[in-house]
Amino acid sequence: MSEEKCSETRRRFLKTTALGVAAAPFASIVVHNRSALADMERLSESDEAAQAVAYVHDAADADDPAYEEGQICGNCALYSDQGDGWGGCSVFPDKLVAEEGWCNVWASAG
Ligand code: SF4
Repeated sequence: MSEEKCSETRRRFLKTTALGVAAAPFASIVVHNRSALADMERLSESDEAAQAVAYVHDAADADDPAYEEGQICGNCALYSDQGDGWGGCSVFPDKLVAEEGWCNVWASAG
């Protein structure tokens, strides 16, 4: 192997290793959060806190002047996807909300 090719290989190895070490703590946080979400109960529409923000499991049932077509929990900035149609929400830290749901705290993710 030429000196130049050896240096390139060494540079690539060091860069990959540094990225791996930097990403490791975040990977465990994601796994922990997903694990915590799996243990949580689903929010009920009759829950007092849910009713306070007009939460519904299906955005099509939203009956609130703040609702705009296309808004669902799944595209809300406060939603954490769990992958099974339910996920976490910053407004309800101890309950899961429906990915197709909605409430009047909906916030644009972009
Ligand atoms: S804040 Fe967003 S994710 Fe949470 S219930 Fe309301 S619309 Fe859904």
